[in-house]
Amino acid sequence: MRYQQTFIPTLRQDPTEAEVVSHRLLVRAGMIRQVARGIYDFLPLGLRAVRKVEAIVREEMNRAGAQEILMPAICPAELWQESGRWDLYGKELLRIKDRHERDFCFGPTHEEVVTDLVRREVHSYRDLPLNLYQIQVKFRDEMRPRFGLMRGREFIMKDAYSFDATFADAQRAYHNMYTTYERIFDRCGLRYRPVEADTGAIGGTLSHEFQVLADSGEDAIVSCTTCGYAANAEKAELRPASAAPPPDCSSAPVKGLQKVSTPDQRTVEEVSRFLGEPPERFVKTLVYVTDTGAVIAALVRGDHELSEAKLKQALGCQWVTLADEETVVAASGAPLGFAGPLGMKADSMIADWALRGAKGLVCGANERDAHYIGLDQPRDLPYLRFADLRRAGAGDPCPRCPEGVFAAYRGIEVGQTFYLGTKYSAAMRATYLDARGQHHPLEMGCYGIGITRTVAAAIEQHHDDNGIVWPLPLAPATVHIVPVNWNDPTIRQTAEALYTQLLAAGVEVLLDDRDERPGVKFKDADLIGLPLRVTIGAKTLARHVVELKRRAEPHATEVPVGHIVETLVAASKGDVSA
Ligand code: ATP
Ligand code: MG
Repeated sequence: MRYQQTFIPTLRQDPTEAEVVSHRLLVRAGMIRQVARGIYDFLPLGLRAVRKVEAIVREEMNRAGAQEILMPAICPAELWQESGRWDLYGKELLRIKDRHERDFCFGPTHEEVVTDLVRREVHSYRDLPLNLYQIQVKFRDEMRPRFGLMRGREFIMKDAYSFDATFADAQRAYHNMYTTYERIFDRCGLRYRPVEADTGAIGGTLSHEFQVLADSGEDAIVSCTTCGYAANAEKAELRPASAAPPPDCSSAPVKGLQKVSTPDQRTVEEVSRFLGEPPERFVKTLVYVTDTGAVIAALVRGDHELSEAKLKQALGCQWVTLADEETVVAASGAPLGFAGPLGMKADSMIADWALRGAKGLVCGANERDAHYIGLDQPRDLPYLRFADLRRAGAGDPCPRCPEGVFAAYRGIEVGQTFYLGTKYSAAMRATYLDARGQHHPLEMGCYGIGITRTVAAAIEQHHDDNGIVWPLPLAPATVHIVPVNWNDPTIRQTAEALYTQLLAAGVEVLLDDRDERPGVKFKDADLIGLPLRVTIGAKTLARHVVELKRRAEPHATEVPVGHIVETLVAASKGDVSA
């Protein structure tokens, strides 16, 4: 690539709307531009990085025996009605009508479409196993598209679907994809962790997320420092005993339940400050609505966070969502901020284990400007149902080993694997005939990778104050040649010769052939972040050397002009010693 002929509109200023580093740097380095909220143009360098991820994914999926297909982006509503998800998926599903007023959606995922294909074409156990994948643009009308490519509305995903005859075969297919994902993210040069995950709207029973470790990640994950158990904090199991509070957590004994005035004090922090009671003595009462319309009061300790995934699992429902103000007011009979368990008119109430047996608690009184103190669970709420409802955090005990405790990290979910069982095949009657002529529903799994999110995650993990520091395998090109003065014939000839030789050797190169000041060229080179920079200047050239600088390292080295090609060819293959 010649810089002059490549569309690289770099910016000196940070775009104002960008909250995270990958978004800022992708825009500033001229790699993406926003078209509408969560919808982007990919410019040449950005697209090259996307293609790098795609190529690794494609190679490893093919190696694992999966076959690439391409399904339509626009999918007929009928298939989604068959699985039941037309109604369940909610507003993230972009629904559209054709000229005949028929319903379609822009596919956010393709279980229905692929199951329909397979039920029409696959009939016998002899056709199995089968694993079909595609790399395709998806659309999800996210409530809060943000962070650039990390949470877009339109994004590129690799989605794969496995079909097997038996449970054991399906487990093998799942394991095959799990190890394939490890190979993919290893090859991308990313620090990541596979963690146990909730199965969300996709459904199923076994699932892992592949989380790229980065402080800016939206997901909290925990892992045991002793046995290696790792899970999304929303899902990580906590044992009942480990969650139990001290028998009486009241610092000053309170005689019985008392109502106290708390004018305008609504949040745990506000009431805690106002009453001088620590947050761990509070009961947080959250009102939820389920897919069946039931109103649920969910109780967690004031210093804990509720996990919606665990609540959903404990209730055995498809989804839960925080109730709107009207519902909360109707159930509690009080304005927002004063809800509590006593006298709450909910269809059911459920509490986290950490509240079992707790005494001396503070909770909302279901009355404006009032709270109770001295709440005693066994005495005042004897029939509460308990479950594991809270998000795990650092220091919580591991459920799998006696000694271990959790460490906490932030992660960016770049991929997720699901064992689906017969959820879709049963609903859509996708069956096969076994050797004895018996019909069985197909055993399925599905496996996604966010291609464009992986590009953003790589930048979140690999950058510095001056710009992107691409991991070699994902870089839009490997070598950036910076001739400091394009009008100097010797410099220019050396640069051109190096460019030609590197191209001939199969190395991807960007030659900065602009008539710009060296400072401008260096700034752009750092911003764009290609792994290897070669600087060609008059003084060094007079000594028959050029300067080689790795983007990830602070210092440059000098390499004789006669050795630079072999050095770069070796380095571009990942040979660090070169
Ligand atoms: P999230 O929890 O982040 O919303 P998800 O669990 O709904 O994601 P999946 O259905 O598992 O996503 O989709 C597979 C992969 O697609 C994800 O692991 C992620 O890498 C990517 N992905 C999902 N939603 C988005 C999005 N809005 N923007 C970019 N990539 C996404
Ligand atoms: Mg997911």
